[in-house]
Amino acid sequence: VERTLSIIKPDATRRNLTGRINAKFEEAGLRIIAQKRIQMTPAQAGTFYAVHKERPFYGELCDFMASAPVVVQVLEGESAIAKNREVMGATNPADAAAGTIRAEFAESVGENSVHGSDAPETAAVEIAYFFSGLELV
Ligand code: ATP
Ligand code: MG
Repeated sequence: VERTLSIIKPDATRRNLTGRINAKFEEAGLRIIAQKRIQMTPAQAGTFYAVHKERPFYGELCDFMASAPVVVQVLEGESAIAKNREVMGATNPADAAAGTIRAEFAESVGENSVHGSDAPETAAVEIAYFFSGLELV
């Protein structure tokens, strides 16, 4: 089994969508094995999204991610990384397949409701950014 880091982003927590998004994960066979609500500073969001620091939307992205609480979570399952990205749908909700989280809930390419790790190496780094070993059972 594999683990991946998921974030329910500020646009979704503001609209009280945590439960409906979690239901999508569980219906897809992903198990929520750790979860907490936090609010990042822009600097903490910046460290999390450091791979994007040269992109034109980086500042806006960091401010958005710090604009309200987020729910950070670890999802576990067979091929969890790919399965989670499938359930999330395309980055831009206009391109997201019907039934995906972004198709149903995302507001724009920036405010797109969820984050999911994109590879085993990034999943390990991202899980360790938010959770200690003791929180992962
Ligand atoms: P994530 O990494 O959040 O799971 P992703 O892998 O689908 O999403 P990335 O290309 O890694 O997409 O972009 C990271 C995040 O940056 C996106 O989820 C979105 O919030 C934001 N973003 C990406 N492209 C744009 C854009 N053109 N304008 C504004 N924000 C963007
Ligand atoms: Mg990404």
